[in-house]
Amino acid sequence: MDILKYVNNVVEFFTNPIWKYLLYGIIFMLIVTWLSFVYWTFRDAKLRDAPAPFWAIVVFVLNYVGLILYLILRPPEYIDDIVERDLEIRKTELMLSGGSSKCPACGKEARDDFLICPYCRKKLKNSCVSCGRPLNLDWKICPYCKSAQ
Ligand SMILES: [Zn+2]
Ligand SMILES: [Zn+2]
Repeated sequence: MDILKYVNNVVEFFTNPIWKYLLYGIIFMLIVTWLSFVYWTFRDAKLRDAPAPFWAIVVFVLNYVGLILYLILRPPEYIDDIVERDLEIRKTELMLSGGSSKCPACGKEARDDFLICPYCRKKLKNSCVSCGRPLNLDWKICPYCKSAQ
């Protein structure tokens, strides 16, 4: 019968060992992507200060579902960004409150309008010959009163 021959051909086609290797290949790829999901989640959670081992296990067990859960529930910001933003805010606050920097010689706190370091006597600023305001040592002209120095 023709149909039997046809079925036989199909069966023969699919019993070809190439299918077995292809299947192994696909399984291997799936395992690799699965493990990289776990690794990626662990690293990302660490950067965001989320419980990294917990999320790695969730993704390991639930695979795609775990990954989607993590993407929904993870903290929205990197911990480094938070630290950097805090620093930026503190810097702005300092600038607004009159500004204070450090003496380049001794490292102690010296306000921006100090002419000399009160601790080590290093010269920090010149005073303008005309208006007396504090000027950086390398300024050639006073930005307040426009007198040449
Ligand atoms: Zn000093
Ligand atoms: Zn001046």
